[in-house]
Amino acid sequence: MASVFSLIVAGEIPCYKVAEDENHLAFLDINPVAPGHTLVIPKREVNYLFDLPDEEYVALELFAKRVARAIDAAMPCKRVAEAVIGLEVPHAHIHLVPINTEGDLDFHKKTELSGDEMKSIAARIAEKF
Ligand code: AMP
Repeated sequence: MASVFSLIVAGEIPCYKVAEDENHLAFLDINPVAPGHTLVIPKREVNYLFDLPDEEYVALELFAKRVARAIDAAMPCKRVAEAVIGLEVPHAHIHLVPINTEGDLDFHKKTELSGDEMKSIAARIAEKF
């Protein structure tokens, strides 16, 4: 069965898209830790990030770096934090979260945002990509 992220790649379920290239996709986390919380994935479905072949892992990180720069430019924050969890969705992904303090990277705290707010944040980041 395809992962929920593969269904997003296939366009079968919607996402708030931030950036895309041939092999990668970035979209807002539906349950964000902070406004601008973005997931970066390889389009090819591999369960565990650290099982990616070196070349694909490096390409994903380079894509994530460009997305992080766009988040930096679009969202007021001191840093963009990067995290890997992967306990919920078995499709390799990197979390990018704009933060001002260490406490902002708390995966138990979620931020409520409306669909319109998510749309506008995604557009702001996409514009800087
Ligand atoms: P983890 O696999 O533990 O890194 O967590 C998966 C992350 O994916 C969580 O932060 C979820 O909120 C997020 N997520 C799950 N389904 C979707 C979706 N359809 N669109 C965007 N984000 C999602």
